[in-house]
Amino acid sequence: MSAAYIMTDDDRWDAVLRRDRALDGRFVTGVLTTGIYCRPSCAARHPKRENVRFFEDGAAARETGLRACKRCLPDEVARDEGAVLAAIAAIKESEEPLALADLADRTGYSPTHFQRVFTRHTGLSPAAYARALREERARQALSEGGRVTDAIYDAGFSGPSRFYENMEGRMGMTASAWVNGGKGVTIHWAVVPTSLGDMLVAATDKGVCRLSFAEGREALEGRFPAADLIEGGDEFSALLEQVVAAVEAPTQGFDHIPIDVKGTAFQEAVWRELRKIPAGETRSYADIAAAVGKPGAVRAAGSANGANNVAVLIPCHRVVRSDGTLGGYAYGLPIKEELLKRETIK
Ligand SMILES: [Zn+2]
Repeated sequence: MSAAYIMTDDDRWDAVLRRDRALDGRFVTGVLTTGIYCRPSCAARHPKRENVRFFEDGAAARETGLRACKRCLPDEVARDEGAVLAAIAAIKESEEPLALADLADRTGYSPTHFQRVFTRHTGLSPAAYARALREERARQALSEGGRVTDAIYDAGFSGPSRFYENMEGRMGMTASAWVNGGKGVTIHWAVVPTSLGDMLVAATDKGVCRLSFAEGREALEGRFPAADLIEGGDEFSALLEQVVAAVEAPTQGFDHIPIDVKGTAFQEAVWRELRKIPAGETRSYADIAAAVGKPGAVRAAGSANGANNVAVLIPCHRVVRSDGTLGGYAYGLPIKEELLKRETIK
């Protein structure tokens, strides 16, 4: 979407229908029959389109005699945003985790109301947001090099055991293997011809860590510069066979194939959602953002989709644009189109 993009009333109505929180504060929705105006995301039942008029803001709506909705409090948007921004700044600056009551106190809201406002804006509770921020910082420090324990303390964890509690089960590789570009990890790999072109498959002993098209050893080395790369291997060949079968006949399902990926908490949440889309069905980027509890993060969901390391098995090709067009695909639209085509033929 370009900067010069101008919203039409149709766009506004679409935003109302999907209750798009990202547009709260950009306009209000007046309902002539009830005499009330709302924010776009109001949870109340949708009015009939013919009874709706859009206004720049609450003041413009009030001029025509409309009253603010008591449910979505459209005039509180700016105050809510200010409160959320202030809380985020406080969380970022604080060395210690902040109590909900403490955060609410700084904003002048009651703890329950503040929790609701914060969650509506960020998709996460304040506590979950603080946790995600600490994990994010740890990942960043780890990928920049340095000792693992330093990275852990720098990120605001109280110590290594708390860090591993948060990270365990989320990353296939251990933290120290990751900081070293896969040092100490053996990755078996192969390039195999398929009906979609040459496919690179690579796996650790925990599962497939890379599946891509038109890539070879060099690309794999770029991703895992310190890993022990071994072409082929007996156990790997058995896995490879399953992967090729899954790509050639995706309707048979591939939940049984193990995957070893790592990303940010948000990326991993998106990838988990992608795995839930049945073959033969598609979702929009907005659907995925909503499914991970961050309905406003449509663009971020698109980026997480694009950052997927394991094509097909994490079926990012099943995400299309809201208007039904295909959107992008890392390996070219013809492959996406072909994958979707073979999935709809049962
Ligand atoms: Zn409302």
